Amino acid sequence: MEDTKLPPVGKSGYFEIRLESIGGLGANLCGKMLGELGVKYLDLNSVSFSSYGSEKTGTPVRGYIRYCEKEKEIRVHSPVISPDLMAVFHQALLKDKSTWNGCDEHTDIIVGLDAGQETLEEAAFTKWKKCYVVEAQKIAMETRSRINMVMLGAIVRVMGFARLEDANRICEDTLGKKYPDALKGNLEGIRRGYEEVREMTDIPRKPSDSFRSETIEWGYDTAPAGGINPCFGNTVTADLSPSRQGYIPVFRKEKCINCGLCDSTCPDMVFQFAKGEYNGREMMVNQGLDYYHCKGCLRCVDVCPVNALVKGLEAEHPDKEYFRTNQDLIRMPDYYVKKGPDAYVTSESYLTEKRMGGGEI
Ligand code: SF4
Ligand code: SF4
Repeated sequence: MEDTKLPPVGKSGYFEIRLESIGGLGANLCGKMLGELGVKYLDLNSVSFSSYGSEKTGTPVRGYIRYCEKEKEIRVHSPVISPDLMAVFHQALLKDKSTWNGCDEHTDIIVGLDAGQETLEEAAFTKWKKCYVVEAQKIAMETRSRINMVMLGAIVRVMGFARLEDANRICEDTLGKKYPDALKGNLEGIRRGYEEVREMTDIPRKPSDSFRSETIEWGYDTAPAGGINPCFGNTVTADLSPSRQGYIPVFRKEKCINCGLCDSTCPDMVFQFAKGEYNGREMMVNQGLDYYHCKGCLRCVDVCPVNALVKGLEAEHPDKEYFRTNQDLIRMPDYYVKKGPDAYVTSESYLTEKRMGGGEI
């Protein structure tokens, strides 16, 4: 039988878990279940909460769980910066350096693999204690459960102080009454996650000094005079492609009536409008998408009145046909910036381009 004793904790005084996920994979529920597990079945104190964006799918989701002995109180309710265990629900998130924030030699990492992927080939940015993988998507499909249940089983196994029976009981408590028909599949998903998670020892790593944990550089004490923050925190300059769950909006220009609804709906300024001609009229014309900023939430597909945007599988566009089109467009200085009285910028992608040594602004 597994040892159900909490392992020695670091200087935080808690055993801390961080879930790195994407909206739609169920990390929020998984975090809640892990939190309840501690109090109900492990005789510990625990707390859990999540942070996520306003869109239902496609946005980064982080879950935080803390455990400690019952005699101690949990008075900390801030995100877990330096986790003892980090579970990455989708391997695409490994591309994003912020996923690795705060991980070091004391962090066990579990990565949920895509269907068809048996190993982790991607080099990581940082150090870890042990790295585990579980074929989360494949197991979820085979058991008709969800990725969060497979990950729950894997997390319980790796954290080492809970048993499979405890995970099953919390699943029955959470889903048994609400979704009795789905219970069997979810229990099976948990069992397979628990049994099939395995350690990987031969993953190529980048040198640890290539990674720097991100910290808040500007605050009350450090902001420059006047309070101007040059490191603004919106997503205009962020690569959002790791957030996609395999779907992208595909643009069919020939159908577009240039109504602009997609542009006003998209939370991340993905659409590229420029002066042009449509039906003999000079107007702002939709040139397509800059997928660098697209997180794949597909809200634009929902609002387009003429199906000029359709849901497509990213894997079916491996040549990045649309990506290339738009990357080419934003690389043309005359396209993205015009000087003079009618100056315009199609999107703030040009900032990224400039940093990458692109055209003059
Ligand atoms: S919502 Fe559809 S029709 Fe309107 S501009 Fe966007 S792609 Fe074109
Ligand atoms: S382009 Fe569409 S799918 Fe991509 S972020 Fe904008 S609204 Fe979401």
